[in-house]
Amino acid sequence: MNTTIELEQKYGAHHYAPLPIVLVRSEGVYVWDDRGNRYLDMMSAYSAVSHGHAHPRLVKALQTQAERLSVVSRAFYSDRLAPFLQRICLLTEIEMGLPMNTGAEAVETALKAARKWAYSVKGVSAGKAEIIVCEGNFHGRTIAIVGFSSEPQYRAGFGPFPAGFTLIPYGEADALEQAITANTAAFLVEPIQGEGGIIVPPDGYLARCAEICRANRVLLLCDEIQTGLGRTGRFLACQHEDVTPDGLMLGKALGGGLLPVSIFLAKREVMEVFQPGDHGSTFGGNPLAATVALEALNILVEERLPERAAELGDYLIRRLRAIDSPLIKAVRGKGLLTGIELDTRMISGQAFCLALAANGVLSKEAHEAVIRFAPPLIITQAQIDWAVERIGQTFLEQEAILKRSRQSV
Ligand SMILES: *Cc1c(COP(=O)(O)O)cnc(C)c1O
Repeated sequence: MNTTIELEQKYGAHHYAPLPIVLVRSEGVYVWDDRGNRYLDMMSAYSAVSHGHAHPRLVKALQTQAERLSVVSRAFYSDRLAPFLQRICLLTEIEMGLPMNTGAEAVETALKAARKWAYSVKGVSAGKAEIIVCEGNFHGRTIAIVGFSSEPQYRAGFGPFPAGFTLIPYGEADALEQAITANTAAFLVEPIQGEGGIIVPPDGYLARCAEICRANRVLLLCDEIQTGLGRTGRFLACQHEDVTPDGLMLGKALGGGLLPVSIFLAKREVMEVFQPGDHGSTFGGNPLAATVALEALNILVEERLPERAAELGDYLIRRLRAIDSPLIKAVRGKGLLTGIELDTRMISGQAFCLALAANGVLSKEAHEAVIRFAPPLIITQAQIDWAVERIGQTFLEQEAILKRSRQSV
């Protein structure tokens, strides 16, 4: 047994079940383990590493700013926050932003904003605000957020939970229309469900939801923590349907793969419900994070990462669909957010990821059955070819193993 793994098992909580690989170094789309093996990273930390590992411009921005000014809290202004906020508001075409650190914090911020907006602007009676969410959602791991998850394991043992959330099926705009009441503050939705298993809703779904929200004076809150910042082939996944949400959450890739940086963006009418003292975060919007996030946005635009994701994503999905294996149930995705759904009667997602890692490609299953392929957006076509060849080979090996085990019974 590897001593690093033993030590982590002994001193660390067991809330994850990592593959037994100890990573020690990274560059671009590659990571290396403690034995010197190189892997192509097809998961990029759940899309947090869209810019690739250790992007030279981001590392330089981080180093330079760390020597100048890093953390001052929001008790003072810093010269780094305003340029970041201005850039992200112009890019998203949303009026104001509130920076936090992790994705879950941005979602919590959105929930607080929506509730206070419902009471102070829409006129919902005290304590009655409702927020509609979707089955299969993933918005983070706080008590409030897991409280409205439809995944039993995320909730089990953690109640009681805050009230005021209504679950509806994902991908059905009619269900939204039916669930709205006079007390509905907001509809919180992922344009594509990432952790839910790369679930792409029908074309027109988000646009129709936006219409329904507008007609009923309900805020449309889009969680683009995973789908945003170029991942699906547009700067925001909402833009595939020309939707500008009333509130937007970004995180993951916003930190350039170096730091946790998240933000809740909203139109002025919503963001202005926050008064001094209503909300906060010691580290949210710190000069170091704001510097890295601004550079991450600049790189995204200058290196045309959304356009790359669109082109190479189409290519990747075409190549994955060409893999002919009885172990595959479906291939789906948009841009460089793609997944293969396995037939779990024959193989588990975890077993497949382990075998794939042995062939030099890192990934992680979502919801047991779906292997996600979401590499850094800087990946090249040749690197995709290499990965697809390894993925195809892994399917062949697993089919052979299955055949042998069937013959031996
Ligand atoms: C990862 C994720 C979150 C939570 O982000 P953390 O930084 O892990 O708190 C929220 N929403 C979506 C859609 C995500 O993919």
